[in-house]
This record gives sequence, structure tokens and C-alpha cells, in this order.
Amino acid sequence: MKLLSFKDRAERDRVGAIEDEVIRDLTDFLPPDDGVSPMRRLLAGGYDLHALLRDAPRVARGETTIQPPVPDPTKIVAAPVNYRAHQAEMNESTHIAALGVFLKAPSSVLADGGEVRLPYHDRRFDQEGELAVVIGKPTAHVSEDDALEHIFGYTCLLDMTMRGGEDRSVRKSFDTFTPMGPYLVTADEVGDMELWCRVNGALRQHAQLADLIWPVPRLVSYVSSVMRLHPGDVIATGTPAGVGPVFDGDIVQVEISGVGLLSVRVSARDAVRCPTLGRDRGPTPPPHPSLQTIILDSRE
Ligand code: MN
Repeated sequence: MKLLSFKDRAERDRVGAIEDEVIRDLTDFLPPDDGVSPMRRLLAGGYDLHALLRDAPRVARGETTIQPPVPDPTKIVAAPVNYRAHQAEMNESTHIAALGVFLKAPSSVLADGGEVRLPYHDRRFDQEGELAVVIGKPTAHVSEDDALEHIFGYTCLLDMTMRGGEDRSVRKSFDTFTPMGPYLVTADEVGDMELWCRVNGALRQHAQLADLIWPVPRLVSYVSSVMRLHPGDVIATGTPAGVGPVFDGDIVQVEISGVGLLSVRVSARDAVRCPTLGRDRGPTPPPHPSLQTIILDSRE
């Protein structure tokens, strides 16, 4: 089943299921709004979704505005260096087994079709296409064997990143730096997964999820040994090789087989000079022909 968060014509936050472009609104089956998104209330309730669907009203696609599948996760956990080819291209001496995980600000989420806003004109920003796991039930210290039972489903995610020496939590937490969606696909619909990431239609990243250094069960188990996970929490599994800079006007797409196609545009409107000094520090990303633009920018 494919679930989505959306706003209706009255700008109310809703959750629904989508099939053949028809949306079924599940929101009215949920307990009253307590400041938590309908999606999180739906996940926390452990409902029989097929039973709810029988009586769910239909909503025309054109009367909705799509939102990030989980608009308000209590946290977004992310895996650094979790593919060997990406480790090599970044000249990293270590990978996830030495680095652990990091946090992205929940306020950085962005919906499918949204606009990634680059904050600075004198820094490099890269796309990182990733598979994201969405947690379905309270999870602490879960074993690898039991981890899959705690996953509700999967979605496409872009871990937008400023390169440099600042802390990852800064470089990856700017508003709009975590596009997600369009849908949250239940785990039962997903098999072996393959990921493609394109910028302006040109393929930059292509990988099998089977190539993860720490596969999903191990990643979820590990994260849950560090911090308690709640329904709707998001875990980004890491990016394959092929990261590269993005610029004003670019279209970035992440596609994962069985999960969907996420598409956003990039804007550098109102970008300012970066106030921090990490530009020439940190892991060294692969060179890219379009970087000339950034070099020129910094001489202004
Ligand atoms: Mn990443």
C-alpha cells in the first residue's frame, strides 16, 4: 500500500492511501488532532489499513497538495559512508562501522515537487540519493533478526549536503535539505531494491541496496541501541557513489524500484556568503566539471 500526507482544499493536514491516482482519505478514522501529524497518528495506531480503506472517502488528486510522507518526524537519523564505492570517491579512511550515525534536523523535510534552497553562493552543495526507512512502532534495542518487524515502510530521500569541515548536523540540516516521498510504501510491497539518482536527467548514482555496508536490519538495530525510535522516525540508509554539486535551476530525482520517484528543483535565490569557515576542510568530494561556477562565485 502507498500512503501519503497531503493538505486538502481547506489546507487541513490529512493522511491517505493512493492507488491508480485515486486518494482515499483515512484521517477521519484517527483520534483528534493533538499537534501530531495524521501520518504519525496513523502509524502509532497500528490500524488494519485494509479495513479502514473500505469506508474511506475518495479525494480527487487535484484537490490535494502533497506533503512529506512524515511531515513531523521526531528525528531523522542518517548513515554516513555506507557504500564502499562512495567511501572510495570521498577518500574516506573509514565507513559506518567506525563513524556510527548522525542526525538531520526534522525541520529540514521537503515534499516531492518542492524547492531545495541553497543558503550560500560560495559553498559546494551535493545531492545524495538515498533509501529511507520509516519506523512503525516504538523501538529500543531491537535485534537484527527482529528489526524488519519494526519498519513500517520505505520512501525516497535526498540527503542534501554542504561539503566542508562543519559538523554534519549543520551541513545537512538547512531548511529543505531533506526532500522525502512522494509516498510511504509499506514494507510488504518492496522486494530487492535498486536506486537511481539523476540531475537534469543525467544519471549520477546507481546502486543495488544489497550493496549497503550495513544492511537495513543491522542499521535499524544499531540505531535503536543508541536512541529510542518512535513511529514515523526516519532513517536514511546512506548514499552510493556519484555525489556531485547542484546549482540554481537543477532538477534532482531519486528513483527506487518499488518505492517511487522523488523529484525536486534547486534554487539559489537569496543565497548569501557563508558565515562559517569549513570550506577547505573535511572529506574531499570528487571533482566535477561544473565546479568552475563555484570558483568564480567565490571571487566576487
Ligand atoms: Mn547521506
